[in-house]
Formats: sequence, C-alpha cells, structure tokens
Amino acid sequence: MPSNRTFTMIKPDAVGAGNTGAITKMIEEAGFKIIAMKLTRLSRERAGQFYAVHRERPFYGELCEYMSSGPIVPMILEKDNAVEDFRTLIGATNPQEAAEGTIRKLFAESISANAIHGSDSDENARIEGSFFFSQTEQY
Ligand code: UDP
Ligand code: MG
Repeated sequence: MPSNRTFTMIKPDAVGAGNTGAITKMIEEAGFKIIAMKLTRLSRERAGQFYAVHRERPFYGELCEYMSSGPIVPMILEKDNAVEDFRTLIGATNPQEAAEGTIRKLFAESISANAIHGSDSDENARIEGSFFFSQTEQY
C-alpha cells in the first residue's frame, strides 16, 4: 500500500450502535477517499492475530473478546499524509482524552470499545489492509 493510504476499522460498539454511516461521513468529509470497504466479523482467533503486537498487555484477552463480539467495517483509505491525518481525525485511544470533534470523542464508549481503529505507520497500514483485503494493489 503506498504511503498516501491508511487502514481503518469501525469497531463492534460503533457498528452495533448504528454509527457506521455517521462515522463514514466524517471520514469522507475529512477528505479521505474510500478505496476498499466491507462489513465482516473477526473470530476470536483472528482478532488475536490482528492485535498480536499487544499479546503481552493486560487488556489483550478482553480486547480480543470485544473485537470478535459483533460486526466490524474495515476500510482502506486514501489521502495525502493519510496515516497521520487519520490518527488526528480519530483522536486519543482513551475517549476521555480525545480532542473535541474527533471520532472517538463523539462515538467511543470506553478505552476498549473506542469506536474505531487507525493504523500507526505506513508499514502497519499495509499489513493491516492485507489482513482484510486480498490483492490490495488492485484497489
Ligand atoms: N486498549 C484497551 N485498553 C488499553 C489500551 C488499549 O482496551 O488500556 C484497546 C483499545 O481498543 C485500543 C486497542 O486496544 O484501540 C489498541 O491499543 P493501542 O494502544 O494500539 O491504541 P490505538 O492505536 O487504537 O489508539
Ligand atoms: Mg495502535
């Protein structure tokens, strides 16, 4: 995935609360183009693979349970400076610390059920996009 792309996933709390449309609208209005998108689910095992980098952290088990608890909406997005600008759009991991107007401030329930994922580097955007979408170079 080129460096003008990032990967995101609307998490089960936000999909379950019916906020998929509102969040997608914010993403598009912020200038991101949707390159790939689907509604799907993660098994407990696949959630564990996606968050494997956190496997030693105390919240890992709860995070994997939560991320496999309902549908999610993964997307590949395109924009100049995509990774950094998207992290700004979503806000801090803990919604109580997220800036006003960010997606997490508006929609997150808690530090775990925090509405949305955003890749933290170009390399991870590529890896995470490939986790959900095959042959991403086609998109
Ligand atoms: N998380 C959690 N408790 C914490 C920190 C993180 O449940 O104390 C969850 C939360 O859903 C977060 C995900 O683990 O989005 C990945 O954590 P990371 O530190 O990578 O935050 P992010 O990059 O998503 O802001
Ligand atoms: Mg992260």
